[in-house]
Amino acid sequence: MNKKDRYKYFVEYFSKHQPDAETELHYGSPYELLVAVILSAQCTDKRINQVTPALFERFPTAQALAASTPEEVFTYIRSVSYPNNKAKHLVGMAKMLTDVFNGEVPSGIDELQKLPGVGRKTANVIASVVFDEQAIAVDTHVFRVANRIGLTTNARTPLAVEKQLMKYLPKDAPRIAHHWLILHGRYVCVARNPKCEICPISWFCKYYEQTHTEPALNKAEALKVKKAKDQKKKTALNKIGKELKKRSVDNNG
Ligand code: SF4
Repeated sequence: MNKKDRYKYFVEYFSKHQPDAETELHYGSPYELLVAVILSAQCTDKRINQVTPALFERFPTAQALAASTPEEVFTYIRSVSYPNNKAKHLVGMAKMLTDVFNGEVPSGIDELQKLPGVGRKTANVIASVVFDEQAIAVDTHVFRVANRIGLTTNARTPLAVEKQLMKYLPKDAPRIAHHWLILHGRYVCVARNPKCEICPISWFCKYYEQTHTEPALNKAEALKVKKAKDQKKKTALNKIGKELKKRSVDNNG
């Protein structure tokens, strides 16, 4: 199967089965989403959703967070990964939001990336989720799953993956394709031991094609044999049925 077909089936499948895919992070405003995404780097959304309610209650706005200290913020986020660095980034980000952007989250990728703790991935998430831009954020799931399915070829960096996906996905797809790839990577195409046997898109997955060619053929062969046996059985049963019917007619006659 070629790359063009894989893209076609990928978009068709997920458009049909996950038309409303969205982030699993809980947030109520662009500021809260920005905080949650910064916190989510190398951490699970589940963990972030456990700490953000208290954090957002104590710091409901960028101004409130800017007036705090990394030490205080740390006490709210100690259970996430890299809490020291993230606490510093959050306060720095809030200060810049307040001083430079009037307390509002900017919409441009370049402006977003000026904020402490905000790299290209986070900027793309904000641009696509908050501002409906057709951008695709490449995190570890997107990187791995796009490569396994065969949507990318020899893409060795997140930026290379982003460029290839942006090039080949339909114009209105990158925004939601980000969530499709993340969710599929989180629940099915996991990093170690992907669940290929239950994966609904294995039929157009390049990794599956490369690693399961023989079992797939064997399965097809076994199905063919079973079908032939079933047909034989059916024919034999039909014959017996006809024979019995004939005898019953002869006896009655
Ligand atoms: S078939 Fe396996 S490798 Fe391919 S997408 Fe599904 S889980 Fe991932």
